[in-house]
Amino acid sequence: MSLLNNNTKALELVSKLSREELAVRLGNREAVSGFVTASIRNTDTERRKEQLLHLNPAGIVAGLKALTVLTGAQGAVIVTLAEGAEDALLKAADEAGLTLCIEKKADLVKFDHRDDLLVTLDEAAALAAALCGETAGILAAVEDGDLEELPPETRVSELLKPPFKAVMTDHRFYAPAEIESMTLKDLGSMSGVLRILTEADCLVDRAKKEMQVLREKCCGRCTFCREGLFQLSAIAEDLSTGRLKPQALDLAKEITDAMRIATNCSLGETAGCPMASLLEAFPQELEAHARRKECPAGVCAAFVTFYVDPAKCVGSRDCVGVCPAHAIAYRPGYTAVIESFDCTKCGACLTACTQNAIVKVSGRAKIPDKPARLKNAPAEEAAPAEEAAPSRREGAGKRRRSFARPAGTAAPAPAPAAPAVSAPAPAPAPAPAPAPAPAPIPTPAAPPAAPAPAAPAPSASRESTGKRRRVYAKPVKTER
Ligand code: SF4
Ligand code: SF4
Ligand code: SF4
Repeated sequence: MSLLNNNTKALELVSKLSREELAVRLGNREAVSGFVTASIRNTDTERRKEQLLHLNPAGIVAGLKALTVLTGAQGAVIVTLAEGAEDALLKAADEAGLTLCIEKKADLVKFDHRDDLLVTLDEAAALAAALCGETAGILAAVEDGDLEELPPETRVSELLKPPFKAVMTDHRFYAPAEIESMTLKDLGSMSGVLRILTEADCLVDRAKKEMQVLREKCCGRCTFCREGLFQLSAIAEDLSTGRLKPQALDLAKEITDAMRIATNCSLGETAGCPMASLLEAFPQELEAHARRKECPAGVCAAFVTFYVDPAKCVGSRDCVGVCPAHAIAYRPGYTAVIESFDCTKCGACLTACTQNAIVKVSGRAKIPDKPARLKNAPAEEAAPAEEAAPSRREGAGKRRRSFARPAGTAAPAPAPAAPAVSAPAPAPAPAPAPAPAPAPIPTPAAPPAAPAPAAPAPSASRESTGKRRRVYAKPVKTER
């Protein structure tokens, strides 16, 4: 177990041993006309294994030197973005008599290294360990913990703390039942980093993010990698917003199958894994999004609704001030109401409400759509008895337009009955009973009702549509 320690013993050995002696210890290798090139795998977006360059520069150089001698390569190249390891690497290369070049690049493009022998950093370090007669372990880390070198037979489940919904490594999701019997050797993780996903994580959302990372890394030279990632990202986006037609999942399967075989580097080979592993191991998660329009973890905002439980709301208004979208309406004496059209699903009100009266649901749900009267509302807060409870639309008040009467305009007075337009003018009739007054528009600017104007006011029913239809009535004199 010497991957994570500086293997100076291997460096000394490799400088002394002849090619034949090296072949005895490490086996023969095919001849290489170019260089021996070491880097992490392109698909390793975690880049944690680059730590080896700092921790074990002697071991990596010893491994590269041994391979250079065995293959007859011109020298060695290390492709990395790691900073600060150059001095130790070049010093070790001097000691071993190795021609070493360090390329500052994020990824290794196979097209540029057609004649080279490609190895990973941990393979080079493991070769140095073998030179000293040691067996290297496998590097693994759980979440953001340190990389550890563990025996290859270590069961993956020993490293994980249940309960969990899925484990992800190298952009691939594994179900708990699948990972239960696997060893680190079976898993064969290129990054070595195990990410644990619980019931609170949405796998579709996570797959979407993984594909975004892969798209940023894709160099675009291979059509299947480039276009496949584009298509799969669009499918994942549609899944998380409820726009995906269920039959598009079959298309996703075809794309992932093609991507496995028709790409040119490790990134392309694993680029379809987020979606492929969801299709294989988590069909229920995809079905929930595609058919039931529901996100089991409540993460995908398109399927989430927030509402106020009238049975728990005490009218404290703590939620109203924290809502950045002004989507919570409150009226004295009534419970708060969330206008779902305006709600941006930020969740700020959830934490603000100390009564746990705000509920977050995913999928189709019947939600209370009207505020309720508060049971123990203080007398001064209680709404007037004759006032009806505000509707949800009225509470939000954003899209409902109420046309206030211009200041100074009199409210409509009780109108006398007007004769029909087409009817001949009758003889002066006795004064009819005034029509009932329309409900008052609650605008503070409206002045008190003025005496009846000279012209007859429209009736209550005519008032609501009076803009489009005009009725010209003859003024009727009332005599008493
Ligand atoms: S598989 Fe993707 S990242 Fe790799 S060379 Fe092809 S296009 Fe570039
Ligand atoms: S939902 Fe909660 S924070 Fe908002 S008014 Fe009701 S009790 Fe207060
Ligand atoms: S979830 Fe956010 S936007 Fe929606 S009502 Fe609550 S605070 Fe307002």
